[in-house]
Amino acid sequence: MIEGNKKTRYYDFGEAVIASLHGERKKLLFHVCCGPCACFPLTYLCPHFDATIYYCNPNIYPSEEYERRLGELKKLLAYLKRDYGFEIELVVPPYDPEAYNEFIKPYEHLPEGSERCHHCYEYRMDEAYQYAEDHHFDYFTTVMTVSRQKSSVVLNEVGRKLELKHPSVPYLYTDFKKKDGALTGVKIRDHYGLYNQQYCGCRASYNEYLKRKEKL
Ligand code: SF4
Repeated sequence: MIEGNKKTRYYDFGEAVIASLHGERKKLLFHVCCGPCACFPLTYLCPHFDATIYYCNPNIYPSEEYERRLGELKKLLAYLKRDYGFEIELVVPPYDPEAYNEFIKPYEHLPEGSERCHHCYEYRMDEAYQYAEDHHFDYFTTVMTVSRQKSSVVLNEVGRKLELKHPSVPYLYTDFKKKDGALTGVKIRDHYGLYNQQYCGCRASYNEYLKRKEKL
């Protein structure tokens, strides 16, 4: 088991797992938050894994934004099938913002990047991890380490904690930001003309975005 910090080389751990497969394709469940964040992780891992996406994002506010991001993700999957031949399954659980908002309420006053986000990551990843366990996947991971606004250490530590809760499915450590992953993701997003959202997702981040806009 890995106990991480800023110097932990999560990228290398992921690479070591890929090398250990010796070309054998395993079933990977991907937690995906949106199309733009999925661009690089999917092109990087789908040559090695049979990937299924679990779109668990009840944090996204309002519901029109949730649908819009889901629509962009579906567009991306169609482009990746056309251009790379990737057959990626998409699972969309029921959208339940009420339960999420109730859960996040005690942390809503905290700023983006704080404990509020750490709980938010865990909430969504846990549901996706449970799906991976129930459906006997070989690995689980999230695309969120690609985001420059999100700490890869925190996300991988959440993954490590959830692996203890769902021990039949190993957590695949990643750091998609590394080796120009974030930049490559932006290029793929722009190449396909995907909608680039202006805020992370939840009601608090939407309000923070409105305040930033007001100041311009
Ligand atoms: S800013 Fe993003 S990660 Fe943080 S609580 Fe909101 S939706 Fe979740």
